[in-house]
Amino acid sequence: MELFNVYPLVDITPVRARGAKLWDEQGREYLDFYGGHAVISIGHSHPHYVRRLTEQLQNIGFYSNSVQIPIQQELAHKLGRVAGYEDYTLFLCNSGAEANENALKLASFHTGKTRVVAFKGAFHGRTSGAVAATDNPKIVAPFNAGHAISFVDYDLQAVAEILRGGDVCAVIVEPIQGVGGILRPSDDFLVGLSRLCGAHEVLLIADEVQSGYGRSGKFFAHQHAAIRPDIISVAKGMGNGFPIGGILIAPALQASYGLLGTTFGGNHLACAAALAVLEVIENEDLLAHATELGHYLRTELEAQAGAEEIRGRGLMVGIKYGFPIKDLRDRLLSEHHIFVGNASDPTVLRLLPPLNITRAEVDRFLQALYALRVASPPSPLSGGEGELVLKHLLDPCSLEARSLQRGRSTGLPSDGCCG
Ligand code: PMP
Repeated sequence: MELFNVYPLVDITPVRARGAKLWDEQGREYLDFYGGHAVISIGHSHPHYVRRLTEQLQNIGFYSNSVQIPIQQELAHKLGRVAGYEDYTLFLCNSGAEANENALKLASFHTGKTRVVAFKGAFHGRTSGAVAATDNPKIVAPFNAGHAISFVDYDLQAVAEILRGGDVCAVIVEPIQGVGGILRPSDDFLVGLSRLCGAHEVLLIADEVQSGYGRSGKFFAHQHAAIRPDIISVAKGMGNGFPIGGILIAPALQASYGLLGTTFGGNHLACAAALAVLEVIENEDLLAHATELGHYLRTELEAQAGAEEIRGRGLMVGIKYGFPIKDLRDRLLSEHHIFVGNASDPTVLRLLPPLNITRAEVDRFLQALYALRVASPPSPLSGGEGELVLKHLLDPCSLEARSLQRGRSTGLPSDGCCG
């Protein structure tokens, strides 16, 4: 049987991995500055994670949700405490798309309304409802997932107008857009959005699949803006490679849980993986570490001439250049053995290293990037010193807000970015 696989982008076969490093069949070492697409939160094969999963499998690996599974409750307690959402309810599933699918379904069921507002540049997954909420010009007619989706720019006026039109059950937002190119709206925008939703009795869904689990330096990226969404979707870093996703649901939505369910969701092994991740995040103080190293990384990047903009928060970093980054990305891999990511904006390099990346590993990446950028001809769009001065004069938030308002219609990545 032929295998259908959209993704193999490079001819590398990793056979071993530890921390932020991978090794191929020939024993060649690679640095993982992509975290397998924001999935590797606590580093590859962390000893505590390996022990937790092994012990769990030695006891019981799986039985269906028809029996009591106390480790699910343990996970819900721990996640609620670590994330600061003890009063919310956790529903467990298997992926980011499935989490969003359930979030949209729950919102529609709870409010009795069917329209959803999503943002330009958004990525929410590849199942029918999630892909319908994903900004993709290739989709000429939204899949019929029972939702009519309205796309808006990052502009509160535009959202307000749609909400006034009625029949909207939810607004779904990535507090920092990942696939779109590490686009961070201002905290004020998120506060305004939350208030607007409250005023119109529309649910706010925060898709934290990529930005959550400590990546931004807080457990959830929306917590920088001190808002409390009604539903929060999680996956990726939650299991550090073991497939698990979930939604955190506000107490007011309790009556509407009836439609949720899945065979594999919340299985013993997945819960053990997710608990191990939370334990390591706590024990190794990884939120503080991500804040510190993210700050160091972005400061150093800003000091390197050549980029138009350094974006993001914590260890969710985007470097926007004035030219397509494909060649730079390929050379980081082929010449320096470093994995980085791209975005649907072909001029953005996406960095999502494990949260426990070391300073020496960050330096290795910076040196490699510096070597390549020095070797590359200067781009006509990159401003060098003049641009750096300009950046200091402008408020980075307003800069970001303006570039967001330009409302790129990015679509899914063209050169093989894993969405
Ligand atoms: N939401 C966001 C913000 C994502 O970045 C992704 C994956 N890139 C998804 C949802 C979909 O997650 P999954 O691939 O696990 O379905």
